[in-house]
Amino acid sequence: MAHDSGLTLIHRIARMSQTPKPLADHRRGWDRLNWLSTALALGIATLLLISSETTTLREDFQHRLATQASLVAANSAAAVVFQDALSARDNLAAFRHSPEILSARIFLPGGTLFADYHKGGANEESPPWARLLGLDRIEYQRPLRLENMTVAEIRLVADLEPLRARMLGFIAVVLGAALFGLFIAQALMARLRRAMRRAEDDMVRMAHYDTLTGLPNRAFFEIHTEQVLARAAAAGQRAALLFFDLDNFKVVNDSLGHPIGDQLLKAVAAQLGQVVRQSDNLSRLGGDEFTLLIEGADQHQASAIAEHVIQALHQPFPIDGHELSIGASIGIALYPDDGDSVDKLLRSADSALYAAKAAGKHTWRFFSAAMDEQAQHRLVLEAGLHRALDRGELRMVYQPIVDLGSGHLIGYEALMRWNSPELGEVLPAQFIPVAEETGLIHALGDFALRSACAQTRCWLDEGRTELVVSVNVSARQFYGRGLVESVRQALAAANLPPSHLDLEITETALMGAEQEVVDILNDLHALGVSLSLDDFGIGYASLSQLKRLPIHKLKIDRNFVMDIPQDSDDVAITTAIVGMAEALGLSVVAEGVETREQQAFLAALGCHRGQGYLFGKPEPAE
Ligand code: C2E
Ligand code: MG
Ligand code: MG
Repeated sequence: MAHDSGLTLIHRIARMSQTPKPLADHRRGWDRLNWLSTALALGIATLLLISSETTTLREDFQHRLATQASLVAANSAAAVVFQDALSARDNLAAFRHSPEILSARIFLPGGTLFADYHKGGANEESPPWARLLGLDRIEYQRPLRLENMTVAEIRLVADLEPLRARMLGFIAVVLGAALFGLFIAQALMARLRRAMRRAEDDMVRMAHYDTLTGLPNRAFFEIHTEQVLARAAAAGQRAALLFFDLDNFKVVNDSLGHPIGDQLLKAVAAQLGQVVRQSDNLSRLGGDEFTLLIEGADQHQASAIAEHVIQALHQPFPIDGHELSIGASIGIALYPDDGDSVDKLLRSADSALYAAKAAGKHTWRFFSAAMDEQAQHRLVLEAGLHRALDRGELRMVYQPIVDLGSGHLIGYEALMRWNSPELGEVLPAQFIPVAEETGLIHALGDFALRSACAQTRCWLDEGRTELVVSVNVSARQFYGRGLVESVRQALAAANLPPSHLDLEITETALMGAEQEVVDILNDLHALGVSLSLDDFGIGYASLSQLKRLPIHKLKIDRNFVMDIPQDSDDVAITTAIVGMAEALGLSVVAEGVETREQQAFLAALGCHRGQGYLFGKPEPAE
């Protein structure tokens, strides 16, 4: 299965990483130029060699002619002096032993022919190439002297036939060597070119592919989507963009470290490679964000594929001894309705993704115009929240927690409020998730801890020594920065004994990297603060977990309290939770108690503590 997915991925990459056309054209032109220049250089070198060899051969030959001429010269000079033309001709006839000499003539100083010798075949034409190289025939003349007196001149005409034969041999060797050289040079150059091309291709791949997963990256995604949209526009077709984000990736990355996060991303990419078609373009935009571009898909097909992907990523990934459950949320934008450009389409898909996450994750959403406004609102929220701390727009309010039997106050829950000059009073349900996503939760959490500790110190100083104040801690605060250190410092700064501080954590904080969270909880317990499990009943904390963890208190979620004692299901659940807590030795706080009837019922059930509008709304400490 893993093997298959690897192959699919390789095919996909091979298909997409074909050399772009302009680059291929450029390369072909370059190759041709290379061939031409090498051949030209070798051609010139060959010509130079041939011409130099010709000169040498001619000089040698001339030297030989001179030697032969000088042999007959002395006798011939005497014959001239004695006017013995017959003897002179006999002398010249000696040249018949030299196959290359065509004619030999002796001229008297006035230019009169005195004797001559002529060989047959002298009129035969030599080939044009020989004439071109000056290898056809050669004329040689030298004076005939007798005791330093010039008496006549001998003129020889020789055919360079033997030189031509040698020259042909020489040319054959040189050309052979040149061609061989050309072949070797080309082979070497081809190797070099291949190496350069591989490097060039690697660079193209690196610029367009994500090195971790091998999937196309954002740059490639943008180029490709632009092409797909242009095609769709021309053909009047639709397209769907699925934008997905892994639900619990940040938790895994923060708690188990980046190497595990990387392995998980690889596994996710391989898994996705299996469930999507070759023609659907899967890309990784960065982090845990992936996109899938489906050409020609309508709403129905897009949602079917989204469902398919969510199912595929729902199962746990076994990585390095961990079973990592992540899951995905998907936002879908359709072309051309939700955007006619890459940018707009991506933004729409992003808004839809945000809506999918807000709807509880593990799900998909189509883009709608209303989401644009929500996204806008979120941006304003995010920008405002960044400044809220510095501008002093945040404060803590306190809601009483009472003993249900006696109605006595036993503590407060500290809840955060944001009074924004632009947005008015913003509730935690709106801004806490934004703070969690942006990482601002660490600063906000610090603020809540410090404010609550300082306020509790004040109450202690006023003599209300029985009070315990509960502070909410987000799941995100367990990862990344030192929560334990932050709590220790808040206690120290306020000089507050730890027994007056209670931390409320939600069940989601217990998911993910279990051992690390258990260690942090133990450290907090060792500090001396108490721990409560907030909104109990709606999540998936198990009994075995509760036994293993240093939890002191359960807070029954308001949803189960709301309709008691009328709703029999809620009565059953609340009864079970209280019974279970008792068995485990935990105390229980009922949230959202609004009526006397609820108070009486819960007290009778054995739930000793309660919090709700019946006893007081969250109010500033004053
Ligand atoms: P929570 O910790 O479960 O807090 C109880 C919520 O229920 C509070 O909402 C409180 O005002 C509300 N509530 C209490 N009694 C009643 C009642 O009788 N009826 C009704 N209808 N509601 C009641 P609030 O203040 O809006 O806070 C909502 C959530 O935001 C909190 O739920 C908590 O999870 C989170 N939160 C608030 N402050 C902080 C904070 O400083 N840090 C973190 N991490 N989360 C916070
Ligand atoms: Mg709470
Ligand atoms: Mg609660």
